[in-house]
Order: sequence, then structure tokens, then C-alpha cells
Amino acid sequence: MKIYKFGGASVKNAERIRHLADIIAREKDDLIIVVSAMGKTTNQLEEFTQMLYPDATYEDKDYDRLYDQVVSTGELQSTRIVSAYLNHAGITNHWMDITALLRTDDTFREAKVDKAVSQKQIKDYLNQHPAHIYVTQGFIGGTQDGFRTTLGREGSDYTAALLAYMLDADSVTLWKDVRGVYSADPRKVKDAELIREMTYQEAAALVEKGAQIVHKKTFQPLMEKQIPLYVKPFLHPEEQGTLIH
Ligand code: ADP
Ligand code: ASP
Ligand code: MG
Repeated sequence: MKIYKFGGASVKNAERIRHLADIIAREKDDLIIVVSAMGKTTNQLEEFTQMLYPDATYEDKDYDRLYDQVVSTGELQSTRIVSAYLNHAGITNHWMDITALLRTDDTFREAKVDKAVSQKQIKDYLNQHPAHIYVTQGFIGGTQDGFRTTLGREGSDYTAALLAYMLDADSVTLWKDVRGVYSADPRKVKDAELIREMTYQEAAALVEKGAQIVHKKTFQPLMEKQIPLYVKPFLHPEEQGTLIH
């Protein structure tokens, strides 16, 4: 079992979703596909929530709970579309609502995952719904009493790592809009160098210094189980990208 994660840029329009299907069609192993909201949808849902609740302060728990109920719909929507398109294209898959399985506390907008409960729920679910390909949401989870939660902005990479950890996956691949991890942000630094291979520690240190390429919580669960992490170019899937191990 491998985990593939596609960020917002990789599902931002119909052409990209068709290209995603081409990448999936080449893969022979069982897969869990973790998907972000399309394009900048999360930002738009964030603005929409502010419009619903203009007087809220950042600390207001009611606001944060509402935020998570609204913002989490971005991933529920994108995964429905990706799953339906893959089925249409002959890539049979099972859509999975991770908010019923990835159990978190009620720290809305920065929810903490209960790994033990989540692991049992997800394993049971996969056993009850056997499939070669699952499509599910990054970034979101759910509380014991049925509220949806979010794990912190850009949290989809972290979801992919958590699933790999809980299911002892063979690898995680983050498909991004860059050729891999560079010494600096290639959009800002012209002579940034592509790094072919790095340790978890080196990658975590780069992110710690401000490189917003992989969510910072992604490395720990993978390091604990020695699961390799690939950062690969969505638009050039034949390229090797970066291996973090
Ligand atoms: P995703 O689509 O998975 O959410 P992100 O947008 O979060 O992907 O991350 C990819 C972006 O990270 C790239 O577009 C790039 O501008 C930025 N980035 C920042 N630092 C780096 C780096 N050191 N190497 C590669 N990309 C970087
Ligand atoms: N869609 C969420 C965000 O934009 C999570 C993610 O993309 O990783 O923050
Ligand atoms: Mg991201």
C-alpha cells in the first residue's frame, strides 16, 4: 500500500484532474489517494466564514467550530469530484469520508489526532470496504461527537503521513507543482538547487528555516516507522523528484 497526496494545485481544474488520473493509471500497487481542496478554495471558504460571523475574535471557540464545519467542505467536495472522475475513467475506487475515521480532539482549527482510535477505525473500515484504490480528504478529521475539524492550514501532507504511519504503508508521495525539494524556494531564488536525496532531519531543518514545501508535522510519523517520503513533480511524473528517508 502506498499513499499518494495531491495538493490544491494538482486538482485546480478539469485538465489537472485528468492528468491526476493518468498518474494513478500507471500505479500497480494499492493506493490511498489523499486530496486537498481545489486550488485556493480553502482561502475562499475562510473568507466566507468571516462574512458569516464578522464580529468573532480569533479565540472564540464557537467561531472556530463554525470555521471547521464550513472550511472542511472544500476537501469533501474535491474528493467527490476526483473519485467520480476516476470511476468514470475506468479507475475503480472507493471514496472514504475521513471525518468519521480520523478522530481528533475539539481544538478546532488545530485539532490533535488520536492515533490509537484513528488507527483502529481506519483499519476496520478498510477491512469492511475492500478496494485497491481509496480516495480521501487531507487536512480534516472529526470529533467523537461528530463535528468536523481541521488540522491546521496546509495539513494535507500531515494526513498522508498519518495514514502511512497507521497502515504501515510502503511509501508516501507528495505530488507538487515543483520538481522536488530545492535548497530554497525556486519561485523566489533563481539559482536554488534541486536536492535529490535528503534525511528526514535535513528536510525538517529546511522547513524549520521557513521553506513552506512540506507541512512541518509530516516528518515525525514517517521517521518513526522509517517510511520513505517522495516529493515528485505533478506535471513531470517520470522525473525522480526528491527522496526523503
Ligand atoms: P501543495 O500543492 O502540496 O499544497 P505547496 O503549495 O504547499 O504544495 O508547496 C509547494 C510550493 O512550495 C512550491 O510552489 C514552492 O513555491 C514552495 N517552496 C517553498 N520552499 C521550497 C523549497 N525549498 N523547494 C521547493 N519548493 C518550495
Ligand atoms: N486545503 C488546505 C489548505 O489550503 C489543506 C492543504 O491544502 O494542505 O490549507
Ligand atoms: Mg500545501
